[in-house]
Amino acid sequence: MPDTAPTLTVPARRCRECGGLFAPAQQGQEFCSVGHRHLYHNRVTKRGRQAYEAAMAWRMPDAASGKRGSPTPLSNMVDRWIAEDNQRARDYEAARSARKRKAG
Ligand SMILES: [Zn+2]
Repeated sequence: MPDTAPTLTVPARRCRECGGLFAPAQQGQEFCSVGHRHLYHNRVTKRGRQAYEAAMAWRMPDAASGKRGSPTPLSNMVDRWIAEDNQRARDYEAARSARKRKAG
């Protein structure tokens, strides 16, 4: 009989912020660190505010003209976010590769 307790192996997950693999310490953990959880949620909160303003500017009639705005600014904003997210993913990947090369 083994003298050590069986260890539970938790499958590695990808951090929602950096995309790096990590071993979750608890069920449902989505981020590799508290810092990455904060970065992600701060960005989502800020973007939510910006999306609200853009959506209201699109759908609320202008007080003077009575006309509604255009969805283009909202659409452009989402396109910018996607480009930012893609660039961030490339930056995190480059940082991981640099750390691997440095570690040998
Ligand atoms: Zn991370």
